[in-house]
Amino acid sequence: MDRNMLKSAKKIVIKIGSSTLTDEEGNIDKEFIKELSDEIRKIVDQGKKVVIVSSGARIAGVSTIGKWSRKEDIHYKQALCAIGQVELMDSYRRIFWEKQLHVAQILLTKDDFGSKSRTLNIRNTLFTLIDEGVIPIINENDTVSVDEIKIGDNDMLAAYSSVLWGADLLILLSDIEGIYDKNPKDHEDAEIIYEINDVEGIKKEIDIGQKSSFGTGGVSTKLKAAEHVNKFGIPLAVVKGKEKGIISKLLEGEKVGTLIYEEIN
Ligand code: ADP
Repeated sequence: MDRNMLKSAKKIVIKIGSSTLTDEEGNIDKEFIKELSDEIRKIVDQGKKVVIVSSGARIAGVSTIGKWSRKEDIHYKQALCAIGQVELMDSYRRIFWEKQLHVAQILLTKDDFGSKSRTLNIRNTLFTLIDEGVIPIINENDTVSVDEIKIGDNDMLAAYSSVLWGADLLILLSDIEGIYDKNPKDHEDAEIIYEINDVEGIKKEIDIGQKSSFGTGGVSTKLKAAEHVNKFGIPLAVVKGKEKGIISKLLEGEKVGTLIYEEIN
């Protein structure tokens, strides 16, 4: 895919991973949210529209209440998410408003994407918010989602949301520059893959070269999310969230991050 085509993307979903949203102490990284609000203000001023999918509720919960970080009980995990979600949205609300941007919270579960009437309601609310210039911030509704019924990963939640909205591009903000041939955290010589147009093929290549870089890591869900959105003609990009101006660079067609687009004939 010619990266210049990204310049014309009008409807953009941005998914933010937990590690991007938090600082080294595990607190919400307000500086990052400020940077993000600058980028989004710029995009909105260009007449484009943005939906955010944000992780980070549980970590925000731990840093807010200052305990339970090691609790494995599902109800404590859900309680932490309930506490952290408020904190997270409060940060978004205050920081985005400094750029005259309103935000809205949408909490979804897997069931919401399986029911026609719910999907229609979500879509209508989403379109209303966006038409009115409000930035929707989507997260999984952890309070009602136990493991068996979870979407499980916000990469997939972002993929489903992109299809539901009919987005032009899904951007995953991660803690790495893109997808590599092996885990860059374990291998100094790992090389970034700038373009992927055969997801099945890449899966095999990475799998053969470095089994451990697959399976448990976040890369497999990113490729799964890409496969899902690509089916609907939506490209997916993985970029390093904390790199200054990264969203603008990507949208200007610069060769940053990994762009995954497999054309389905
Ligand atoms: P996020 O929450 O930011 O979306 P994840 O933790 O889910 O990110 O996935 C990114 C992580 O996947 C990286 O920090 C990296 O350590 C790991 N990883 C494993 N294999 C690879 C690979 N081949 N290329 C890039 N990252 C990889």
